[in-house]
Amino acid sequence: AKDAGRNSIRFFNPRMQATLDARMKLESALREGLDRGEFRLYYQPQVDRDGRLIGAEALLRWFPDGQLVGPDQFIPLAEETGLIVPLGQWVLDAACAQLSRWQQDEATRHLQLAVNVSARQFHEADFVERVRHSVEASGIDACGLKLELTESVVLEHVEEVVNRMHVLHELGVRFSLDDFGTGYSSLAYLRRLPLDQLKIDQGFVRGIVDHPEDAAIVDAIVAMSGSLGLATIAEGVETDEQWHVLLGSACQAGQGYLFGRPLPLEQWDALLLRESES
Ligand code: C2E
Ligand code: CA
Ligand code: CA
Ligand code: CA
Repeated sequence: AKDAGRNSIRFFNPRMQATLDARMKLESALREGLDRGEFRLYYQPQVDRDGRLIGAEALLRWFPDGQLVGPDQFIPLAEETGLIVPLGQWVLDAACAQLSRWQQDEATRHLQLAVNVSARQFHEADFVERVRHSVEASGIDACGLKLELTESVVLEHVEEVVNRMHVLHELGVRFSLDDFGTGYSSLAYLRRLPLDQLKIDQGFVRGIVDHPEDAAIVDAIVAMSGSLGLATIAEGVETDEQWHVLLGSACQAGQGYLFGRPLPLEQWDALLLRESES
């Protein structure tokens, strides 16, 4: 369904040479979409080693005239134009509202919700205040909120990044380093960040069964995170074989089609219900 949606909206296709005109159309469509409430969060399950649900990653979807458009089609332009700031704020508020519901129910109180934060958003002058406000306005225990940052976020303005992360960490907010292994972070550098989790990039997971080098990298990442006191989660887990290798590496958690696709709220709630009845 997602791919059909992508192909039917021609000017969102990133392979086309984006003309200024198309970009301006997309930009104003995004802006209006935000005003009109065309964005939704989808929830993808995250599980522990025993396959038990421990939380979800919130993934943004856009429905201009009812068609599903995935984030790869609009996040890059939203970042370039700065629209990612109000859009990211919407995501944060929606995620906190969702967490608040989970935290009010005994059965779902333990679930963590991971939210993607782009570089531009994180580096906004008032980012920390905005997060604090979202947390306070929703009344959540911030421990349920996990911000996923990529290396592109944390490699610039290091002092400021470390400061901000510490302030948020004191509020209770958790941090996961997304797409880990694809960038250039050094061990020495990672030690300085108040991270809770490394998220092993799906590129390694994809090759883990057939390519010993990928398995070796994953092994090394898990061992390294352990010695830094960090948890690990693998993303893009699609097969039992991959999960088996990851469990052999002592990876603590998984996310991927094997456990569940990103789900719209109604389907996610149905999953929670099944989970609580089992
Ligand atoms: P990401 O943060 O690395 O998210 C993981 C992507 O992998 C998601 O794509 C997810 O649907 C997909 N995925 C999950 N499990 C599997 C699997 O088993 N196999 C495969 N092949 N793919 C899997 P999605 O939802 O299209 O999101 C793409 C990217 O858009 C995200 O990559 C993230 O960088 C960005 N994004 C999504 N939502 C937000 C948001 O709210 N804010 C920001 N700033 N970026 C977002
Ligand atoms: Ca992510
Ligand atoms: Ca990722
Ligand atoms: Ca990615």
